[in-house]
Amino acid sequence: MKKISLILFVLSWSALAWSQEKATEFPIRGLCIGTPNPDKVPAFIKFINEELGPRQINTLIVRIDFKYQYESHPELRDSIALTKTDVKQIVNACKRNGIELIPQINLLGHQSWAGRTSNLLRVYPEFDETPWVEMPAQYKWPNDDGLYCKSYCPLHPDVHGVVFSLVDEICNVFESMAFHAGMDEVFYIGESKCPRCSGHDKAELFGNEVRKIRDHLAASNRRLWIWGDRLIDGKQTGLGMWEASMNNTHRAIDLIPKDVLICDWHYERPDKTAVYFAMKGFDVVTCPWRRPAVSASQQADMANLRTTATAIMKERYKGIVQTVWSDAGSFMDGFYANKKDDKGTDNTPWHSFNTLFTKAKVKESR
Ligand SMILES: [Zn+2]
Repeated sequence: MKKISLILFVLSWSALAWSQEKATEFPIRGLCIGTPNPDKVPAFIKFINEELGPRQINTLIVRIDFKYQYESHPELRDSIALTKTDVKQIVNACKRNGIELIPQINLLGHQSWAGRTSNLLRVYPEFDETPWVEMPAQYKWPNDDGLYCKSYCPLHPDVHGVVFSLVDEICNVFESMAFHAGMDEVFYIGESKCPRCSGHDKAELFGNEVRKIRDHLAASNRRLWIWGDRLIDGKQTGLGMWEASMNNTHRAIDLIPKDVLICDWHYERPDKTAVYFAMKGFDVVTCPWRRPAVSASQQADMANLRTTATAIMKERYKGIVQTVWSDAGSFMDGFYANKKDDKGTDNTPWHSFNTLFTKAKVKESR
């Protein structure tokens, strides 16, 4: 009898493995990438048509930030920025390929990078959560100020009037029903020297900001997507200050509306935090980066979760989004040349992308 049970167990397990979903079968199959420069738009459209479409990618998050010629706030435009015509070409390519296009502007955190202040705080320095922290001539981490990226002050009375104009304009031109607000790696929040935020609970500040953005989008039937790291306890999980929170914002997970979609990024290990978000009631996508072996595990985990979860939980495991932390032009260069990384290995976002998403077989025609 034991032998028969064992055989049955092996058979059922093989059947499970055999029927395991691939990334191309998940409800959300995405790519998150930096905006192409205007001269790379034609190549990017070719890439959408020839690579994203045939791989059944159905979600494209474009990290646009200030790289668009905003009409609502021209003072915030980057010097090199897409025109409306550029964007409409991308919109049309996505439509033709059945891809949902989602713009991203970093809200709250990531208002500077290394030694450079981004446009919002450069033009509106009064929104700076830490105006006393000067940008260093030569950026180094770690540093005495704990400066990774600047944040805007979520309690400044004028900040949302400006950023929501950008959000509305970019969602309109992208014709998008969702918006990605970033909100990752927020280290400066609720600073004791901020006259508005001092003494406030950091989880409440973070949670209230998420809710404010979510409510603004919901008024136009749009959905908020964010990175998940601020909602994970970095100390208890051992995940640390980057891919989780060490400044108590993690309690905001119980304060934010459940219809916010969580992009759960982990790049070094296939951490199983998608379960945490799903159990809290959130839709979640797992986001790999540049380690194909990790990406393959993350894909298998997502498939297993979707196979073994209750019907309610299964609905929340939405799929996988490959993240790319360069602009589209650099990614396409690496992708088409099949470049190795600087150590001569295949640990690159394009190798991860190819691991996750393979082109559908083209039907032979006579
Ligand atoms: Zn403040």
